[in-house]
Amino acid sequence: MLTDTHCHLFYDDLKDDLKGVLDRANQLGVTRFICVGTNIEDSRECLSIAEENKNIFSSIGIHPHDAKDALDGYITDIYTLMEYKKMVAVGEIGLDYFRNISNLDVQKKVFREQMKVARELNRPIIFHNREADEDVIQILSEYPDVIGVAHCFSSNLDTARVFLDMGYYISFSGNLTFKNSHLPSVAKEIPINRLLVETDSPYLSPVPHRGKPNEPGRARFVAEKLADIYNLSLGAIAQQTSNNATELFRLP
Ligand SMILES: [Zn+2]
Ligand SMILES: [Zn+2]
Repeated sequence: MLTDTHCHLFYDDLKDDLKGVLDRANQLGVTRFICVGTNIEDSRECLSIAEENKNIFSSIGIHPHDAKDALDGYITDIYTLMEYKKMVAVGEIGLDYFRNISNLDVQKKVFREQMKVARELNRPIIFHNREADEDVIQILSEYPDVIGVAHCFSSNLDTARVFLDMGYYISFSGNLTFKNSHLPSVAKEIPINRLLVETDSPYLSPVPHRGKPNEPGRARFVAEKLADIYNLSLGAIAQQTSNNATELFRLP
């Protein structure tokens, strides 16, 4: 059994064919999913998809790209929605200095406000970090009681070690499989009990589907790559990463 710990099932291509998407995933051994929100509205959609499907869980958060559009009172919405059983994390939250769609101060403010919610509720976070290592580390370190996952990890080994030391898990997506990626050499050094797999569907389709819209079943290819890197069976990687997901997100 594999768990795709990060997919955005509310996008039309996935949502409109959800049954097909889930069937294909099951055939590839991917049987549990966390649908990750990027703003209040799509987080609500994640929740309703999760409510209708036993093996789908949900998170709520404001993505750095959406930080500029966060309305007054959004924190209250997060508290309210986090009361649902199927809500397992605050995310995705974080910083994105690659695209800079929201200005830096707004990104940091909204990130910190949501870290406070996670601390208050004692729930894990799912964080996004693109070319913002230093500031992400700074903000995470201000909330030492919070743990969570570095989603779609793409930084270097030094940064991975800082996240690990702070208690975070490291999640790899399809970019682990890309030719000439530096990530396999980083993944090799991650303790196996802190590893997660994800697709970030519909983004980042792994080899051999690179460039096409992604779907959760392809977490399988990320897991196969990890099996290769660790010299373990796919079954062992599947079991370990799923156990890690259960532990971090307190899944049933
Ligand atoms: Zn992200
Ligand atoms: Zn995402």
